[in-house]
Amino acid sequence: MLNIKELTIKEAGDMMKRGEITSVNLVSACFKNIEEKNKELNIFLEVFSDVLEQAKNADEMIKNGKGTRITGIPIAIKDNMLIMGKKTSSASKMLENYTATYDAFVIKKLKEAGAVLIGRTNMDEFAMGSSTENSAYGPVKNPIDPSRVPGGSSGGSAAAVVAGMALGALGSDTGGSIRQPASFCGLVGMKPTYGMVSRSGLTAMSSSLDQIGPFAKTSEDAEIIFDCIKGYDEMDSTSINFPRTRFRGVSPEPGSGEDLKKIIGIPWDFLKEGVDIEVLENFKNVVEKFKKAGYEIKDISLPYSKYSLAVYYIIMPAEVSTNLSRLDGMRYGLRKEGENLPTGKAGIFDTYKKSRSLGFGPETRRRIILGTYVLSHGYYDAYYNKAWKVRRAIMKEFQEIFKDVNFVMTPTTPTPAFKFGEKKDPLAMYLCDIFTTPANIAGLPAISIPSGFSSLGLPFGIQFSGPLFSDESLFAIEKDLRDNI
Ligand code: GLN
Repeated sequence: MLNIKELTIKEAGDMMKRGEITSVNLVSACFKNIEEKNKELNIFLEVFSDVLEQAKNADEMIKNGKGTRITGIPIAIKDNMLIMGKKTSSASKMLENYTATYDAFVIKKLKEAGAVLIGRTNMDEFAMGSSTENSAYGPVKNPIDPSRVPGGSSGGSAAAVVAGMALGALGSDTGGSIRQPASFCGLVGMKPTYGMVSRSGLTAMSSSLDQIGPFAKTSEDAEIIFDCIKGYDEMDSTSINFPRTRFRGVSPEPGSGEDLKKIIGIPWDFLKEGVDIEVLENFKNVVEKFKKAGYEIKDISLPYSKYSLAVYYIIMPAEVSTNLSRLDGMRYGLRKEGENLPTGKAGIFDTYKKSRSLGFGPETRRRIILGTYVLSHGYYDAYYNKAWKVRRAIMKEFQEIFKDVNFVMTPTTPTPAFKFGEKKDPLAMYLCDIFTTPANIAGLPAISIPSGFSSLGLPFGIQFSGPLFSDESLFAIEKDLRDNI
């Protein structure tokens, strides 16, 4: 039997090309792990009934010489991306019975390339959280240590890859929801430059921050998924038509014959407080390794970026409150057809109230209330407008920094995976996002790569962010770390 937990997408693809295995073999091996562990770990909300059929079609494609690097590869999909004819609930009771009427752009791309969509993965409700404890369907357990969270909000997607239930997965990242679970589960997780991957068909959380990206065991695998899902889409007004290039920030002029400068900036003042001792130790070790591998390390200061978390927790809830306002029980939501039809003003409010208090979990309600508050007349300037001013300053700060360095490096998270129930105070949970939110606020690409294990055997991750459109350079770093260090 194939060991999916060890196998990479690249290896599986090569083996299929050589005719040593088939996609049907791959999905059978994933099914075995799903049967054994999904009940306990609560990773998939649904495993699709047509997986074998998809795998057979993929095998045909390969046989006919029409295969791509992702054909026949089992991919898990976060439950907030639309797949035509299938349920998409965003792990909410509110959308328990919602069936998608079209394919998200990324799904269309995966289908065209012959990837096998294995099922929809559990997550924090509407992608709000850092642990999957906010799912209406119970939390996901971290396959590495089931007494701990897998991270969130895309915790199910990360867990599916570690548990050998898929070879890769899609997640969405608004403030760290790909990179943080990747770090907690020992995977590569990448948030593309805002606009590189279409958001069409992604259930919106915070539209100016949301991006879809890959989870995989290696950056090479993550890049295979990224290459498949990226691209211009006229259905997303923020989609960018960016040609495939290897843009490397302060790299020398093409053709100059100079070597690529590899300069990593580290904002040490950002790492002073609240970082677990072992995380910091691991980070420092990795810095030394990069130095030995020929990277230049520079101390940098990012005085505005420190405020990213505060800015995030104003702009994000504001956009959440607007995006989720459509879920009022009329067109979308809990009201059953023909039941509780509104009559007059009181009737409408009654329906809204019932749907929204029954349909949304406590964290979702908290953010809708916060968002409504910061957008309200009288507070708009004090909070929302001010947050946007700081956001622009943060963007500018990064633009300037990337004139001097190629990448900015920090730990991905201040602690490794924590236990269930450990962060009951919402503010303690929000602090998990301290290192991941700056990239979303500035629209930058960022990647989390595995960097070792704690004394308890829990994975650590380090994060690199780069200038806008340096997505492909970020994948190259992990390879450097594995090859040279
Ligand atoms: N943990 C962050 C939050 O709760 C990030 C969520 C995300 O990226 N979707 O908002």
